[in-house]
This record gives sequence, structure tokens and C-alpha cells, in this order.
Amino acid sequence: MSVPIQILPERKTATPQVVIANLVKKYGALRALDDLSFDVEAAEWVALMGPSGSGKTTLINILGGLDKLNSGRVVVGGIDLSNLSENEMVRYRAEKVGFVFQQFHLVPYLSAVENVMLAQYFHSVTDEKQAEEALRRVGLGERMTHLPAQLSGGEQQRVAIARALINQPKIILADEPTGNLDEANEEIVLKIFRQLHHAGHTILMVTHDPDIARQADRRIELAHGRLHFDTAQHGPGHPLACPLANTADCCTPVTTDDEIRFDHLLEQIWICGEEGKPAKVTSLHSTGTAGSLPLRSEEPATKILGRMTDLHLVDFQNGEAQLTPVGSRRARDVVRRHRLAERLFKDTFSIDESEVHTQACKFEHIISPELDQRICTFLGHPKTCPHGNPIPPGDCCNGKLKS
Ligand code: ADP
Ligand code: MG
Repeated sequence: MSVPIQILPERKTATPQVVIANLVKKYGALRALDDLSFDVEAAEWVALMGPSGSGKTTLINILGGLDKLNSGRVVVGGIDLSNLSENEMVRYRAEKVGFVFQQFHLVPYLSAVENVMLAQYFHSVTDEKQAEEALRRVGLGERMTHLPAQLSGGEQQRVAIARALINQPKIILADEPTGNLDEANEEIVLKIFRQLHHAGHTILMVTHDPDIARQADRRIELAHGRLHFDTAQHGPGHPLACPLANTADCCTPVTTDDEIRFDHLLEQIWICGEEGKPAKVTSLHSTGTAGSLPLRSEEPATKILGRMTDLHLVDFQNGEAQLTPVGSRRARDVVRRHRLAERLFKDTFSIDESEVHTQACKFEHIISPELDQRICTFLGHPKTCPHGNPIPPGDCCNGKLKS
């Protein structure tokens, strides 16, 4: 009987297992993946990192045949995904790749073993013994007949892994597979991934955790849909190849300051737009209230704006800075976080008016998109900051803006 974790043949092939060449994926005007190119060798474990919105999930979905690319080439295990019909895509998904998501996506009214058998069904075989063996492999021999609700989060994720492996895919695509797990379960799940790696599976795993990334062979960081950093290309001596210490924000030690500077300038350009004034390059400044943050030198705004142009955040016309669609979205988000933070500090914490802005300047760089929405919901989706400036609505505000 075949088992899900088996030693696969060849570890290195002449042709890479995954070829990504000039991949572009657009959502309307937004380029979620923007001319992305890299290869992955067979049996390689790649940690895919990068800030929220940088295109990690989009990439995983395209590699898994869940979404279509606009241009470029993606070849997985010799199959060119740009040319597949719907039917071929369904077969590709069932046979070539295994998915593990952050949300476990188990069918609530099916037992653990039935959930695994469901995956076999899509592969046109159902073999209960094989499904049971898969569950035993992930340490769930005693939980076969439990419903998802009767399993812990870690156990549910292990069922999801067993399901992903049942058809013995060479390639495993995992999107923050430990994102919802406590430490103990995270370790159990990572151990399974280590075994899979050892057995020769190719793994692409999205993670925010440098400790997890360190276990992979290679770390790739995306930024704005582009390749920002790749240990295979840049090497361990590169300044971006940080020692991956134990802090989550250490992955981009050099750029953290830069990100704050970018946000600071984006905010100014956004506010010029709100006030109907041109964002004259000469009137934009690199320091200011945000200068109380641990920023490096007093680098002139023009130099920073140059780097922002390279990243497609801003364009220039007649000495005026203009936000690109990507820059505009980011500017809107940072302005929103700033003004929401001001509301929070004033309304909830009754912080002195004179301090509110300074505190918000720090806080706007700390708030994650999830926290942003929670704060906004908690505050009842406020329309304006304490100074009367508009708070750009977020996804959570749909139809719920407080008048
Ligand atoms: P990540 O996983 O790195 O957080 P995503 O791949 O989910 O990023 O998203 C990349 C960009 O594409 C984001 O700006 C996101 O808002 C956008 N995006 C993702 N999916 C869709 C979609 N279905 N429709 C429109 N925009 C999308
Ligand atoms: Mg994602």
C-alpha cells in the first residue's frame, strides 16, 4: 500500500521543478505580481516572505492552478500552466500539487478520514485504508472518526496536511500553515514539513516567522509583487540577508527605516491631494514628526523619492510627485491608520490632544491590516479624525460608515 510520505525520486533535475518567468497577475489596474521571475529546484524548500499585500497568496494560487496569470510563463513539473484548459487545470490541481492553507477548509460534517477521502475522490480513487494511513502518518491514528469540531486547531491542520498529501504530490504549497496554531501544534506541523522535505517533496511555504523561514533551504521575499530578496541570488552576505534573529521584523532590517520614510512621504503627497495642492518635490520633507522615530540620517526627500520611483510608488511630472495606483493605496492605508490611531488615542485613551498626532505617527507603522479593521470596527467606523480630516474607509467599512 502506498503511503503519503514516501521517498520521491530525483532530488535535483536538469530542469527546475518550478519555472516562473516574467509572471504578471493583474486585478484591474493593480499588478499583484509584477514581472516576477525565479526557479525552484526539485526537493527545494522555499520560504516565501514579504509584507501583507506583496503577492504571496496570489503566487501560491497561481502555482496551484487556482488562479490564472495574465502574462509570463509558469511551468510546474513540466506542465505549462498558461496553456491548460479548465479540465486540465482540475486534473493538475488534483494530481500535481497539495495545498495547506492557514484556514483548514475541512468539511464540518465529515469525519477526519472522510475529509481525507474527499481529496482522494477528486483523484478518482477512494481507499479508506490509504486515508487512514495518511492520518496515522500525521499522528492522528486515534482521531479518524472525529468531526473537525471535535479536533483542536493543530489536529485540524494535520488532517488538512494528510488530505494535501494523499495523492502524493511532488509539490506542496502552504500558505501560512502554522498561522493559526499555538506553539506546540506549530512544532508538530513543522516536523511533518521537515519530514516531507527530507522525503524529497518540493515545498513553497508562505510564512511571516523568521524562525520557520530559517528551516527552509531558501528564503524569497516579495515586495509589491516583485522579487525583493532571494537568498539563492543575493547570498548570505547581502545586507538584506539578515541573521534572522528571533524577531519578526528582522527580516528586513535595512529597509524598516526606509519603509517608514516611504510612508512619511506618501502621507504628505496624499494630504496635498486632499487639499488640492500640488505635491511639489521641493516642499516634501523626509523628517518631521515621524523623525522622532529611530530614522537613520537626514537623507534628503529627493533621494528617498528616487527609491520610491524604482518601487513604482510615485511618478513625477513637472517637479510634482504623483502617487501610482500602488502608492495611492499604500498612502491611503497609512493615512487611514494614522487617523484611526488618533481617534483611538483621543476617544478611548483620552490622550492629550497635543500628543495624539505624535503617538499616531508611531502607531501607524505598527498597526497590521487586521488590527486596523478591528480598531475601526471597535470605534464604529468613524468618518473623521479628531482634527476633522477624513479617514479613508477600509474593507471593514463597506456600507457601515457612521454618519
Ligand atoms: P499577500 O498574500 O502577500 O498578503 P495577496 O497576494 O493576497 O498578498 O495580494 C496581493 C495584492 O493583490 C493585494 O494588493 C491585494 O489587495 C490584491 N488582491 C488579491 N486578491 C485580489 C482579488 N481577488 N481581487 C482584487 N485584488 C486582489
Ligand atoms: Mg496572503
